[in-house]
Amino acid sequence: MITPQTSHHGPQPADFTDVRATNLAVVLRFVRENSPCSRADIAASTGLNKATVSSLVADLIDRRLLRETGLTENRVGRPATMLVLDGSPYAAIGIEVNVDYLTAVAVDLKGEELLSWRRSFSGGTASAGQAVVGIAAIARRVVSRMAKEARQVLGLTVAVPGLVDVNGSVRLAPNLGWRDVDLCGDLTKAMRDPGFPVMVDNDANLGALAELRFGPHGGVNDLVYLTGEVGVGAGVIMDGRLRRGGQGYTGEIGHIEIDPSGPLCQCGRHGCLEAMAGIGAVLAPGVSPSELEPELDEVLRRARAGDAEILALLDSVGHNLGKGVAIVANTLNPEVIVLGGYFVTLAPWVHKRAEEEMFRRSIAPGGGGCRLVVSTLGHGAGALGAAARVLDSVDSGRLPALT
Ligand SMILES: [Zn+2]
Repeated sequence: MITPQTSHHGPQPADFTDVRATNLAVVLRFVRENSPCSRADIAASTGLNKATVSSLVADLIDRRLLRETGLTENRVGRPATMLVLDGSPYAAIGIEVNVDYLTAVAVDLKGEELLSWRRSFSGGTASAGQAVVGIAAIARRVVSRMAKEARQVLGLTVAVPGLVDVNGSVRLAPNLGWRDVDLCGDLTKAMRDPGFPVMVDNDANLGALAELRFGPHGGVNDLVYLTGEVGVGAGVIMDGRLRRGGQGYTGEIGHIEIDPSGPLCQCGRHGCLEAMAGIGAVLAPGVSPSELEPELDEVLRRARAGDAEILALLDSVGHNLGKGVAIVANTLNPEVIVLGGYFVTLAPWVHKRAEEEMFRRSIAPGGGGCRLVVSTLGHGAGALGAAARVLDSVDSGRLPALT
């Protein structure tokens, strides 16, 4: 009997569908970036021949990812039917889990926001099992809202402040008290196999994706996003792509030691960046998640009133943040580092101080061209990036099935 062999030479029958999916994605991305455009524009720019483009466009129109508009180009030659993104029957969902809140957003294929909810959540004290129930509940509410709008859900991504492996398991989330939680599997079960992909990713990674897709950083290819929650993490985009590292754990900058005699961190070490510059460093020790917002309001009130003790505290937070930012600037030489989460709220007191420290500690002249900016996406960045990850997977060829 002849053993079937897999040849690694020459085209395989399966390659055809791969090529087709890749080409569908090429056309979809082209229209996303160049809408409105004609079939001839797509052929001219992508190098695909006209017959192939027509067939691919027909497929994308059948899937209601593209639609024709009545517009024509006023050029010499035959007027062309123009194409734009459709996607009106679709929604991408993102949920961000945090110590003190859950955020849920839904966007359409163009990335326009359909819904944005923020709920208080006892992530710091709930067990992982209770958290799964809470996440599944908000997810189901979003899905049912989308169903009422006759939208098919393309996928759900959950952003978690912790180490997430490539299978969507949370290996460690110190501030949530989680270790080895199969969040992707548990959530899929809790939602009774919802019929769309469920993904789990690190909150900083997703914040970086949100900045890349929705932030005001046109043309930037090298960007680092810093979460500013109870934890501090970095999402790293290099050459326009998210960098995950060997097992998916890139960017755990929150546990860089800033001062060995500093306060105890949730990870068990002393003087980590997040213990010295995260929101916990600004508040009284042992503040419960439900007290976080009112405590922070009090800090802001005192800062605005010129309270010397608070101003000195915020100055040291800015200084420590700058030490961490300088390590990022020196190591990765990004074009921009974006401060997210509570750093946005604290920016009037910490941004300039951190920037000075970054320039002072940067070995390259002028910080290597790196700019330190404050996110315009605020606390929604993680959830928005989670939805963006769903759109990214569509853009890279995981198209919704024809119904
Ligand atoms: Zn730590």
